[in-house]
Amino acid sequence: MCISSAAEHRMDGLVSIEVTLLGTGSPIPSPDRAGPSTLVRAGEATLLVDCGRGVVMRMVAAGVLPIGLSAVVLTHLHSDHITDLNDVITTQWVMTAAETPLKVYGPPGTQQVVDAVLRMLTLDQQYRLDHHDDLDYPPVIDVTEVGPGDAFDVADAHVVVHETDHRPVVPTVGYRIEHGGAVAALAGDTVPCAGLDQLCAGADIYVQTVIRADLVKAVPNQRLQDILDYHSSVEQAGQTAARAGVKTLVLTHYVPPLLPGQEDDWRAQAAAHFAGEIVVANDLTTVTAG
Ligand SMILES: [Zn+2]
Ligand SMILES: [Zn+2]
Repeated sequence: MCISSAAEHRMDGLVSIEVTLLGTGSPIPSPDRAGPSTLVRAGEATLLVDCGRGVVMRMVAAGVLPIGLSAVVLTHLHSDHITDLNDVITTQWVMTAAETPLKVYGPPGTQQVVDAVLRMLTLDQQYRLDHHDDLDYPPVIDVTEVGPGDAFDVADAHVVVHETDHRPVVPTVGYRIEHGGAVAALAGDTVPCAGLDQLCAGADIYVQTVIRADLVKAVPNQRLQDILDYHSSVEQAGQTAARAGVKTLVLTHYVPPLLPGQEDDWRAQAAAHFAGEIVVANDLTTVTAG
């Protein structure tokens, strides 16, 4: 479904959840792929899952400004997933007409990251507060640190937090977002584990960050080899999707960067294990459910 018709169907109540991949890249820079970040629109809720490189530009392309966000939810605090949180915070702040807290949910450590981002922006905030008479409040970030088993509502969307396994990066979580009987599972970086299976169980849409284990193994570089043990390979994403009985598997966060023409190779590795729909997403690919 194309973005415009998906938006129309969402407004008509025909789509319960709409997932737009904002950034399908990874820490490795790509000219065509922003950093990891996904927009989930569910009823009245607009959630930003992670804030990778270039997120605000991609959000605007998807028709959402930072002031339109209901909440930011973070899967973990690796730099590629949070690097443009400062841009989300500042743009939301300077475009508000009145003090409007930005809700941020994330694993323990999120408050520390937000505090540090705000500290980094102290001079900028002072410049703007001094310059604009009508801007007389600082950015207000309402942080809630969450862990596995926690649940919260954002507007009319229900969000359940599940444990993932990205060790040695700890803690990490995934988000199961439910609205109107549809379920989207946003896994973040993780290897297959029981928490991931619970996160994805019966989901309509399962978004998984992936690496191509076969291609990574072929590169004689220890720093690249190190990533093999804490990411799902494309095959493992297919296996998780099959085991959890999801309808649609969405691949993102490609390592190495997926180049045009290679989509079928990536899809085939997941399809060897999963018979459902497989979306090899590009930036701004939209998938709907419900
Ligand atoms: Zn990570
Ligand atoms: Zn990552």
